Amino acid sequence: MLHYPNSISSKLPKVGTTIFTVMSKLAQDYNAVNLSQGFPDFPVSEELIDLVYKHMKAGKNQYPPMAGVMALRETIAVKMEKAYGAKYDPEAEITITAGGTQAIFTAIMATVSEGDEVIIFTPAYDCYAPAVELAGGKPVYVQLKNSDYSIDWKQVKKVVSRHTKMILINTPHNPSGAIISEKDIQELIKITKDNDIIILSDEVYEHIVFDGEQHLSMAQYPELINRSLIVYSFGKTFHITGWKTGYIVGPENLMAEFRKVHQYNVFTANGPIQYAIADYMQNAENYLHISEQYQKRRNIFLSAVKASRFKLKPAKGTYFQLLDYSAISDEDDIDFAKRLTAEFKVASIPVSVFYHNPVQNHVLRFCFAKEEETLLRAGEILTKI
Ligand code: GLN
Repeated sequence: MLHYPNSISSKLPKVGTTIFTVMSKLAQDYNAVNLSQGFPDFPVSEELIDLVYKHMKAGKNQYPPMAGVMALRETIAVKMEKAYGAKYDPEAEITITAGGTQAIFTAIMATVSEGDEVIIFTPAYDCYAPAVELAGGKPVYVQLKNSDYSIDWKQVKKVVSRHTKMILINTPHNPSGAIISEKDIQELIKITKDNDIIILSDEVYEHIVFDGEQHLSMAQYPELINRSLIVYSFGKTFHITGWKTGYIVGPENLMAEFRKVHQYNVFTANGPIQYAIADYMQNAENYLHISEQYQKRRNIFLSAVKASRFKLKPAKGTYFQLLDYSAISDEDDIDFAKRLTAEFKVASIPVSVFYHNPVQNHVLRFCFAKEEETLLRAGEILTKI
């Protein structure tokens, strides 16, 4: 086919197809157990599905308000107060989005300008840096500690400058499953004390934290809440990743800028789903016990791989578990992940792709948001390797 124009200068020359798409496709091609892309394989609540249907039948099929259905924004305000003691005005400080990724992209577009620096901790979820680059900003990478994926604050202090516009936080952390501690929060408070740095906090796994630990949100801290845009995802909380619905909260001045971009980016998010989730969230039981359910799944997976040669530290949050295969092979992780899929029929995500500089720790990420039998089948295979 002929192409016009003959040459386009790519705005993202180094970006290919996301690793999630690549590995899920490979899993399909080889009929492998797919623990790569993070999505649950168990059913969605019938009640929630019925509620979407109910609202469609009731005629809620045209554009909802630009910032989202008010009933849902009000419900979120209640949740933010109950969970984090934070007061958000549903009118001006909460916006419903077409998923977490759209919220992150729009937040970056709305606040980062040409030449601004954004601190990103690696390994980092793959959508952050491209958004910063498209906004004309410059990602500044700080590597998390190899031992436990905690933040190296000495490094952060070294790179913060008057050009720093934003620090991107992700807790619970994808891909490592680490969570930030009270000490991290205090460091963040110190570092942002005398400047205008914005915090963009990706907290989409807020309800998935294990072993009695607590998720710490930027919203809990008076010193941080007024400079933070915080992103959440119904996909993660209600196992509806394909419904692509999430939200962002933040102070009025930042939210006003966010909405200026949002209205021309997607204008608004799916209406019937918003009405349905607003009803469904009236019962807090529907989202408060998610950690327990996922902890069970994590533990099933951990015991299923216990006798294997993979080494691990149990994930503290998210629905991802890292496995270190250095006792099995010294192949790089992309090759090993591909071979594991093609030869052994278990698909995972190589963690090196989440780094800016090639870092080879010989670890793979496995998603345990799966039915027990899927996890046992994967465990059985991994134990034989
Ligand atoms: N968040 C999902 C993961 O980490 C992937 C979403 C996507 O495919 N873009 O696996």
